Amino acid sequence: MSYIAVLPGDGIGPEVIKEAIKIIKSIEDVTGNKYDLEYGIVGGESIDKFGTPLTEDTIKLIENSKAVFFGAVGGPKWDNLESNLRPELGILNIRKRLDLYANLRPVKIFEALKESSPIKSSILNNVDILIIRELTSGLYFGQPKKQIDDNSKRAAVDTMYYDEYEIERIVRMSFKIAQSRIKKLTSVDKSNVLETSKLWRKIVDELAIDYPDVTLNHILVDNAAMQLILNPSQFDVIVSENTFGDILSDEASILSASLGMLPSASLSFFPGENINGNLKSLYEPIHGSAPDIAGKSIANPIGMILSTAMMFEFAFEHKDISELITKSVDNVINSGLRTKDISHDSKWCKTSEMGDSIASQIRSII
Ligand code: NAD
Repeated sequence: MSYIAVLPGDGIGPEVIKEAIKIIKSIEDVTGNKYDLEYGIVGGESIDKFGTPLTEDTIKLIENSKAVFFGAVGGPKWDNLESNLRPELGILNIRKRLDLYANLRPVKIFEALKESSPIKSSILNNVDILIIRELTSGLYFGQPKKQIDDNSKRAAVDTMYYDEYEIERIVRMSFKIAQSRIKKLTSVDKSNVLETSKLWRKIVDELAIDYPDVTLNHILVDNAAMQLILNPSQFDVIVSENTFGDILSDEASILSASLGMLPSASLSFFPGENINGNLKSLYEPIHGSAPDIAGKSIANPIGMILSTAMMFEFAFEHKDISELITKSVDNVINSGLRTKDISHDSKWCKTSEMGDSIASQIRSII
């Protein structure tokens, strides 16, 4: 189990993965370590070739890998297929299969990018948030989940289900991570309306007793959406269920100037407790396949590159390499290089130029 399973996927997935591979190669050059890459097919490309978004071969590939490196899946070409044939099932089924229940989405502000964010610079001071999204339950997976057409009227149902085990493990992880930061945890729910949220809040309060050094507060998701833009620096670690976490983190990406900036790590283990490095994890940017810009060489690869940094931290337990990658991204941004989405004027670089510059920065720092 020594290789990285690389699944580029659809749309801009392959474009950003290509740049992140340059980063892995530059890390090989400066450390002398070797990272084997094994490529697999997933999502829309897999539907076109094999009639399914996730084949047994790809499952075998990821199950035998050390870490999964994922681009994005989906696109209009596959939008009208039956629900059981959607490209997105590729990633959803991988998350479930590997039990990747914790999705860590750091929202960091690069100082030099404050002017590129649509949010006022003064609001962005001291923003450093970690959104922890539950990833293997809730509306995405609950049954029944279907459309009903009984000839009189059309209807549809999705089910939001959580059991206490699913809530406890993600909340415990969030308390532990909060302990390693500034000891502040915000739990997001909709407990004024949803039964799952009432149970979520009860369990968070019960577990809080085990973490007396962490300051806990609860916030309703609608207010959280507003506070993230109004006063984002009030947050440190945020924990929430699957759907709320998905939506809030796309919103939070605007603080860091673009959806293309945010990385993520999906873990089946507590950070730092990947005993023998054998436990499963997957690294992907938080954005999707962005069909509107695919093939135009304007995708921002930084979210994928920062996901590479997270892979070195959590899968390989090389925090030093992770910091080297992040520092290199910072240096390149400070040098003024910008992809289109983070440029505030008419000058921008191609996706490949951004990848090349960060890779050569890594080589020059050492
Ligand atoms: P999206 O995240 O793909 O794009 C939203 C907007 O952000 C678009 O305008 C896009 O151009 C821009 N954007 C995204 N990434 C960017 C980047 N790296 N650089 C510059 N701009 C970037 O969301 P969408 O358009 O709602 O969805 C497109 C497809 O992606 C859908 O099929 C959706 O289901 C799929 N999707 C997949 C994943 C995944 O694979 N994990 C996640 C989200 C969406």
